[in-house]
Amino acid sequence: MSKQDHTAPSQWDTSTQAIRSGTKRTPFGEHSEAMFLTSSFVFDSAAQAAARFAGTEEGNVYARFTNPSVQMFEERLAVLEGTEYCLATASGMAAITTACMGLMSQGDHMVTSKSLFGATVQLFVNILARFGIETTFVEGTDLAAWEKAIRPNTKLFYVETPSNPLTEVIDIQALSDLAHKHNILSVVDNCFCTPALQKPVEFGADIIIHSATKYLDGQGRVLGGAICGKKDLLKDKVLPVLRTAGPTLSAFNAWVLLKGLETLKIRMMAQSETALQIAKWLEASPAVERVYYPGLESHPQHALAMKQQKTGGAIVSFDLKAESEEKAREAAWKLIDSTQMISITANLGDTRTTITHPGTTTHGRLSPEARQAAGIKQGLIRLAIGLEDFKDLQNDLARGL
Ligand SMILES: *Cc1c(COP(=O)(O)O)cnc(C)c1O
Repeated sequence: MSKQDHTAPSQWDTSTQAIRSGTKRTPFGEHSEAMFLTSSFVFDSAAQAAARFAGTEEGNVYARFTNPSVQMFEERLAVLEGTEYCLATASGMAAITTACMGLMSQGDHMVTSKSLFGATVQLFVNILARFGIETTFVEGTDLAAWEKAIRPNTKLFYVETPSNPLTEVIDIQALSDLAHKHNILSVVDNCFCTPALQKPVEFGADIIIHSATKYLDGQGRVLGGAICGKKDLLKDKVLPVLRTAGPTLSAFNAWVLLKGLETLKIRMMAQSETALQIAKWLEASPAVERVYYPGLESHPQHALAMKQQKTGGAIVSFDLKAESEEKAREAAWKLIDSTQMISITANLGDTRTTITHPGTTTHGRLSPEARQAAGIKQGLIRLAIGLEDFKDLQNDLARGL
């Protein structure tokens, strides 16, 4: 590594940080970041090998521990989130699993909001529970419910905001204040907003989780994840799990994600702008019962969203009007099948707009009662707006509306 490494000034704008921070150059002087496809690193001598292993000398040993491409991604994301430290992982789920294993032990308890990514719920209910970690699910926006759920062994509050697919916005500051009063860590999955739109540390969050697979890559290419937070906490508690259990981010994926970050802000701003246009247009349609988008004044937490987030984000959900749930499902499927450009897929965070019917896909396995409790009706459609032109998206949706 040459000495031209950029320190990462926290006063830079997000767009500058996303391009200039974390860069490390080799003596070859490459302008774009190098991709370090190597599993191990060589030493000058036996003594140096011993020093590296003992940790008395800094430097690379083995790619499960450190890799320069991965470190560049970690440093860049830490700067963007405004945290001291970041640990990259192989996927978003690897980040959540690693953080939970590092921050909790058998006999511990966590409280989370009900509206979570499906695999996160499975992890908490089916896997962590087997290792003696209990989870209580509460209504995310009901602060009193969080407080009531606290036990002497509660270690974490875990939230996603805005939630998927109904875009409920949770007050990160209020939740973090409550957590800290009880010596609990607040964890925010910032996948939907990314640091371009929301910086949870500014509202007191301790740990920020990412599925880098979504907007950080932004082009639907690779899996990745990250855990951001205080250096001591992550180094002491989470790094040992990552190094030993091995859910490591590959150097190739780290490099792709570095390139993704460079365009993060312009993508998030452009996708949000189109999402707002689509949300307003849908809200005016006689076929639409209700639109869920934090950027709309009709959104129940619009004011909070505008305090916490730069924009409403790129996820727009809406309920179609119908006489019955059966008719609603028919109408939703018809609209989805009438699109010719928009991709029918459950993924989000791509340059390509995607359309999903949560009632029969992501939330299809829930019992009808559980689905109703979660507010997922059969006429509900979720759009993850990409970078296409508004008019083209509008025409594609109008056909089936
Ligand atoms: C996709 C997603 C995850 C999981 O990320 P993977 O990279 O697929 O493992 C976690 N949280 C949210 C909010 C997500 O959308």
